[in-house]
Amino acid sequence: MISLKRNSKKQLVEATGIRTRKSSIYNPGQSENFKISRSKFDDFLKCKKCFYLDRVKGFESPQIPQFKLNELTDKLFKKEFDLCREKRIPHRLFKNNNLEHLIPFKHKDLEKWRDSLHYGLMAKYKTTNIILTGGVDDVLINKKNDKLVVVDYKSQVKKKEELNTKSYLEDVYHQGYKTQLEFYSFLFKEMGFEVDQFGYFIVCNGSDETNEFNGIMKFDELIIPYELDDSWIPKKIDEMIKIINSKKIPSSNESCMNCAYARQRNEL
Ligand code: SF4
Repeated sequence: MISLKRNSKKQLVEATGIRTRKSSIYNPGQSENFKISRSKFDDFLKCKKCFYLDRVKGFESPQIPQFKLNELTDKLFKKEFDLCREKRIPHRLFKNNNLEHLIPFKHKDLEKWRDSLHYGLMAKYKTTNIILTGGVDDVLINKKNDKLVVVDYKSQVKKKEELNTKSYLEDVYHQGYKTQLEFYSFLFKEMGFEVDQFGYFIVCNGSDETNEFNGIMKFDELIIPYELDDSWIPKKIDEMIKIINSKKIPSSNESCMNCAYARQRNEL
């Protein structure tokens, strides 16, 4: 994919490959606090080398364009959930699935928790200088046990027969989604909240079962429950912190097409 660098006014500028904001670059052994987001943790899980080059060496990865249609469905779901939050009632999808005891959670910091760019959920990890962050889509509360329920909105296009919990959770491309919910669960616990055993993906699936477009796109909606297990996370975070405090660049992921492409190009 060809990615051209543009400034905030959308003008083309020189791409140097290195970020200029020093606070986003970690100096191994530093004592100042340093934020690592859920998406950077996900990068670490996929490729330790890329994570290191990004966070420690300040390499700037090519940007992919934002998916505005996904953003829109998220925004519309948020509006619906916020209305239910105000009325203290369950969202229609939860009501229709006999989950009316799960209602949108009201909290003064909710908008901050949702703002992944500036705030997000935030927790200092053990006695380290690392602050873990992550912007959650939504949070419900289970009225039966007063525990928080983490929720993520997802948009997709899949065949109707694949619209079930088993297919959704077994899809190799959805494994990162599970990590996402488990990371939020972990962060909430670190922040002192109790978290319910199940989180939920709220999925809207674009349907192609119409003969005409006419400016109307139809969606099927479903909720996918996922039993969370965040017990593996601290071990990986410890590993991640060890790596950014090292001067040694870790090895790459041999399945990565970007690295393979760069290798082939260098050989020319
Ligand atoms: S294999 Fe190479 S390009 Fe791919 S994620 Fe790792 S360092 Fe980055």
